[in-house]
Amino acid sequence: MANLLHNPPLSLYVHIPWCVRKCPYCDFNSHAAPGELPGEEYIEALVADLEADLPLVWGRPLQSIYFGGGTPSLFGADLIAQILTAARARLAFRPDIEITLEANPGTIERDSFAAYREAGINRISLGVQSFDNELLKRIGRIHGRLEVEQCLQSLKTAGISNFNIDLMFALPGQGLAQLKSDIELVLAAGPAHISFYQLTIEPNTEFFARPPQLPDDETSWDMQQHGLSQFEAAGYRQYEISACAQANLQSRHNMNYWRYGDFLALGAGAHGKISAPADGTVIRYAKHRHPKRYLQGLDNGDWLAEKRILSDEELVFEFFLNQLRLKQGVHVDDFSARTGLPWRSVGQRVQEAVDRGLLEMERRRLRPTSLGWRFVNDIQQIFLP
Ligand code: SF4
Repeated sequence: MANLLHNPPLSLYVHIPWCVRKCPYCDFNSHAAPGELPGEEYIEALVADLEADLPLVWGRPLQSIYFGGGTPSLFGADLIAQILTAARARLAFRPDIEITLEANPGTIERDSFAAYREAGINRISLGVQSFDNELLKRIGRIHGRLEVEQCLQSLKTAGISNFNIDLMFALPGQGLAQLKSDIELVLAAGPAHISFYQLTIEPNTEFFARPPQLPDDETSWDMQQHGLSQFEAAGYRQYEISACAQANLQSRHNMNYWRYGDFLALGAGAHGKISAPADGTVIRYAKHRHPKRYLQGLDNGDWLAEKRILSDEELVFEFFLNQLRLKQGVHVDDFSARTGLPWRSVGQRVQEAVDRGLLEMERRRLRPTSLGWRFVNDIQQIFLP
């Protein structure tokens, strides 16, 4: 049994599982939207699902909410307002709560962002991926550069300055010159936050079945280093493997994942993690994955696909898997605070990683070395259960 003394910060993730169509590289739980989305029904389900989860977190305030997907911006501001109102009636919100909505530029109408803001959204994550129409077509996106520019304008009009741009690199047939142009356009848009990540081919995707020609490893590495150095020079600090932000504008929600905080999870296929200091357990759970199966919860009250108590070994692995994604690394005291386990239980493995030059310890803070940043998988292997 873990010896947890306090609850970590609490966030809420809400999954909207539909997209206009499935992108060929995507392995998320997203489904091509039916002709008419069951929006009202889904909101009703989310509220009932939340009711069922409340006993897990009585009295604990929320520090962030994230609407992810799928494409949450397929849901209009009225639906998003409904779920936020229901959440506010049942849970305390911290005064400075961060509430993010993922938006696909192909689904945003001119006045949407003002309406989302009115509904309570105070941060937008925009799935731009590239400004290059040809590259966007190759990765099956439903938008082009024009829609991205309209979105950026609409964000400005709505007065939302706290926004993230998702930018991908190592796209099929992409060269460094194309990436440089994308980076210039991202910087010109002035987002608070940039998520910069490499296209990878995942199992169970169209690209896995018919792989496109991707830039080789060396070119991909150069692309990544070029992007990170440009962002750094423009005042963005890389604080996580794929994330750069202006000062104090890191994603609070994602930081809570990486710092191994707690998460309520609502919606089809959503995954949560909750600590219970009273009985010394940390649980993980997942909701039914398919939207149809999930919506049946309205009839039978059954939302859970899985729920289990994490073993000590799983706690160790998950803790390091998340925390060592951060540039700041991990403070020794956080390990016990989040897992309830003594540091000595991992001392030998930490020493192995230090001896191999993958991690370094300075003033009780453990972080990846520059070698470790290149071989994150090797570090993860060391902490595998
Ligand atoms: S829009 Fe996003 S979630 Fe939807 S299919 Fe494409 S990558 Fe997946």
